[in-house]
Amino acid sequence: MLPNTFAKVMLAHENTLSDVLSYTKNKYATITEELKFNVKAQSESPITALGGMARIKSMKDYFSCPPWISAEKWLHYRDLYTKASQGVSALIQIDLELADNCNYKCIECPISDDQANRSISYLSDTDILEILSSARDSGALALKLNYINEPLLDVNKLLRTAKLASDLGFVDIYFTTNGSMMKSDVSELLIKSQLFSRIQVSLDAINPETYSLIRRGGNLARVMSNIQSFLDLRIQLNHQWPKIRVSLLSLPENLQEQQAFYDYWIDKVDAVALQSSVLKPNTSRDNHDNYQNLRSTYCPNPHRQLVVRANKSVLPCCSFWGESIQLGSYENFSSLTEAFDCKKMKTLQKSFTFDGQGTLHQACISCLSSCDPAMNG
Ligand code: SF4
Repeated sequence: MLPNTFAKVMLAHENTLSDVLSYTKNKYATITEELKFNVKAQSESPITALGGMARIKSMKDYFSCPPWISAEKWLHYRDLYTKASQGVSALIQIDLELADNCNYKCIECPISDDQANRSISYLSDTDILEILSSARDSGALALKLNYINEPLLDVNKLLRTAKLASDLGFVDIYFTTNGSMMKSDVSELLIKSQLFSRIQVSLDAINPETYSLIRRGGNLARVMSNIQSFLDLRIQLNHQWPKIRVSLLSLPENLQEQQAFYDYWIDKVDAVALQSSVLKPNTSRDNHDNYQNLRSTYCPNPHRQLVVRANKSVLPCCSFWGESIQLGSYENFSSLTEAFDCKKMKTLQKSFTFDGQGTLHQACISCLSSCDPAMNG
């Protein structure tokens, strides 16, 4: 059994295995060795012990350096990312939302609720150049090309932005998608571009009925076929990147099929993530009383990232709850360094201590206590 603190850190955030192993290195050396052994030797280790962390089939391959990046740069980046996650704050990652649109209406997503009346914001190419240049000047090396939107709705803009980011020196460029737009022509562009280290496909179900319930507007068979075609094409084209990760957000609706999801995908893709879902603000579940336990007092996100939304607002993290801790508009900061160093961000960073003595922001309390209790450790 993993110690509670260790399990909670894994549950709370989508850390890489190396992040988690580094954090616990001294305190839980024995356990860490056990976990390393389990991950290597037991591909069927219990899902519940892994919580929200990606269950890595092969960590070495999934997070290994793409061939177009020098090994030295990649190792430097991973080292900085790990240290930032442990509280040595540094702006390592930018999440950039090119447009705040989506073709699904998922039950757990805040932008699904009022799509008919929403006006969509788009970042212009000039905005993107300015934001990415500022991010690089601030030291960022990782770029996630989405927030809560569907980035493949405009694949040309996605590719153009990734090329720009690569030219500016970003070393880890990736995105999360619902997979619905990954038709073979799009997959071919993505694979041949040699720009993306990984693609994360959010599925959340293995049964079509559950999928339709959670990911409204989607077709599971089509998405699964897209993923398989992508993997086949990657082999045909003799490429090993982008790596593919599929994920399942733990929700009451999919509770009964999490093991089946894991079993189906573990030998097909490069990584399977089983994550704790976080309730979107202003919602509740039937078993509301169960959503009260603080699952962690530590959050690595504000130590290492900023999110820039399509409407130019800057957020301290990628949680839905980060909207209530907005730092301001990008246009009101002289640079992303200024945004990362602003008083609000510093207060937030200081609130997360490993001993749990910090005073958490109310939004963080809501975020950290609103995850599916079934995954709440
Ligand atoms: S809302 Fe707070 S706890 Fe949640 S991810 Fe953001 S910073 Fe972390």
